[in-house]
Amino acid sequence: MAKGSIGVTTTNIFPVIKQFLYSDHEIFLRELISNAVDATQKLKTLANNNAFSGKTDNLKVSVTIDKDAKTLTVSDNGIGMTAEEIDKYINQIAFSGAEEFLNKYKDNAAAIIGHFGLGFYSAFMVSSKVEIHTLSYKDGAKGVCWTCDGSPEYEMTDYDKTERGTDIVLHITDDDKEYLEQTRISALLHKYCRFMPVPIVFGKKQKWDKDQKKMVDTDEDNIINDIEPLWTKKPADLKDDDYLKFYRALYPGQEDPLFWIHLNVDYPFTLTGILYFPKIKNNLDIRKDRIQLYCNQVFVTDSVEGVVPEFMMLLQGVIDSPDIPLNVSRSYLQADRNVKKISTYITKKVAERLEEISTKDAENFEKKWRDIKIFIEYGMLSDEKFCDRAMKFALLENVDGKYYKLDDYKKLIEGNQTDKDGNLIYLYATDKEAQYTYIKNATDKGYDVLMMDGELDTPFVSMLEQKNDKTRFVRIDADVLDNLIKKEDTKQPELTDEQKTIASTLFKSQVPAIDKSEFYVTYAALKEDDQPIVITQSEYMRRMQDMAKFQPGMSFYGDMPKAYNLTLNTSHPVVKKAIEDAENALEGELKPVEDELHETSAKIKAIRDLNKDNKGVPDDKKPELEAAEKKAGELRDKQQAVITNYANGQDTVKQLIDIALLGNGLLKGEALSNFLKRSVALLK
Ligand code: ADP
Repeated sequence: MAKGSIGVTTTNIFPVIKQFLYSDHEIFLRELISNAVDATQKLKTLANNNAFSGKTDNLKVSVTIDKDAKTLTVSDNGIGMTAEEIDKYINQIAFSGAEEFLNKYKDNAAAIIGHFGLGFYSAFMVSSKVEIHTLSYKDGAKGVCWTCDGSPEYEMTDYDKTERGTDIVLHITDDDKEYLEQTRISALLHKYCRFMPVPIVFGKKQKWDKDQKKMVDTDEDNIINDIEPLWTKKPADLKDDDYLKFYRALYPGQEDPLFWIHLNVDYPFTLTGILYFPKIKNNLDIRKDRIQLYCNQVFVTDSVEGVVPEFMMLLQGVIDSPDIPLNVSRSYLQADRNVKKISTYITKKVAERLEEISTKDAENFEKKWRDIKIFIEYGMLSDEKFCDRAMKFALLENVDGKYYKLDDYKKLIEGNQTDKDGNLIYLYATDKEAQYTYIKNATDKGYDVLMMDGELDTPFVSMLEQKNDKTRFVRIDADVLDNLIKKEDTKQPELTDEQKTIASTLFKSQVPAIDKSEFYVTYAALKEDDQPIVITQSEYMRRMQDMAKFQPGMSFYGDMPKAYNLTLNTSHPVVKKAIEDAENALEGELKPVEDELHETSAKIKAIRDLNKDNKGVPDDKKPELEAAEKKAGELRDKQQAVITNYANGQDTVKQLIDIALLGNGLLKGEALSNFLKRSVALLK
């Protein structure tokens, strides 16, 4: 029997193991099974190199629980270890310069764990005592038993073991007795070992026994893993159905994916995997557990935050790379250079694959565009490189459901939708039904209208504007059509200032109160048979308000009332008549007010002109100025009161406004009821 003390560094590492990995106790199982799998793989390698002549066709790893003895055992029939090897690999765990390393990082335990795979020693997180029973594959090797109770002292004795391989026996502590539960271990095996490359046996397969009326063990091993998961196979050998089946096994109960990418590289790093594009509903539900990360078929993590770009987290599937460090903390993973390279590579691959589908299988790509659009837009908005690549395959959809690549669309509208200043104007709608009139107006004129009703379309169009010179996106109701795409200097409304004063108050005073909305009166000389009043919403303000949803710093815009323009078509006979009627009816009453207002304004101007050299209005003139300004204010109020009073009796004005509001879905409640009553009354 040999006694000894485990390599000097372990005195330091044990407390680290116990203290800092508390939350992650469960990974001990993954560590031990990974070692066991390695041991079998090594034997296979030896056999391939003719260094081992025994059989390698029944290599496996078994996990057994003995509740009475309170032990959990991981057994393998791999290479085993000689006493010398235990000494070298287990006793001196920090063989390769780890002492120096520990000194360097002694104040940063997380970094130690991150760098220094815990491997075998993680067993002590859950055990009061650990035994190794092992027999090396080497000719004439003797069995060895190694025991350690967690202190740096160990015992090593001969052991009567007849079968090649290693059993790691854990004496589970009372605090960790969950690891003696069949269901708990089953779940852990499913999580960490599901795709390991050697059969992992956990008990026997069970079947229903009629006589005993319960499930009973059969003779058949219960193998919990798939040793050849799909991503390890050659893409050329696989059919669509294989990919779909694998997806359904990984994500049961979910709708089938839209596309997938089989990743397969071996230079400059090794990486395999399959990424799926799931159907994303119109909301950005980024789940953090979509992509699973593996290292040589050993599960590492399913929270890939920071490992793949954020937008990729909308994808699902598996990434496997031996270059992903297995035993590391999240922060370490993110800082790892290989991981960064992998992330860049995946982004590139995803973009390439999408481009390929978009050209080779354009019809399919268009058909699924609505479902993957949010992913692509999100990627374009958040990842510069992806954006550059996606410019080639991102699609625009128009209101007729036709799809165009960005360049093709540009060519389509260039001729017709370039304004007099050389800006290319992209018209878009966000609601085909609600904006029907505006859309029809534009399409009648030969313009094309895009559909932009996606969750991310607002920031997306802003991004396109930034990336493309002289390009503007305007929603179809942002202004009257002639102003959206100004061709030549458009006909200006022929209204005098007095007429404008009347028209403005005449109409504005009759707009029913609508919650969180403000209305401004503007004018446009449209065609006689165009709408009498067009309600528009300035693109800038509306977009700012939409953007407020995405940027917390902009919530100021979000809280502001919506600003609508009531654009009076001054060529429309009914509008024209309403203004002229008001002008005639109010002439007598308004004339004296207007005259007085002119006079007062002239006076104010005269006093202000004294301030030409910017020295301020002379003190002795100030009271006079104040009085004049007050008077002007009163006169304007009076003017408005006169017009409002008149407007209150003008059903035509009310009717014109309400029709416009109705056309935009803005007429509701009492205002709608009033409109209906008035409309009926007008029929009498
Ligand atoms: P790592 O696996 O990262 O090298 P471990 O502490 O887990 O670190 O294991 C140390 C060494 O002990 C392994 O490299 C291997 O040589 C040996 N070893 C551990 N478990 C087994 C096993 N089941 N069979 C054979 N050798 C093993």
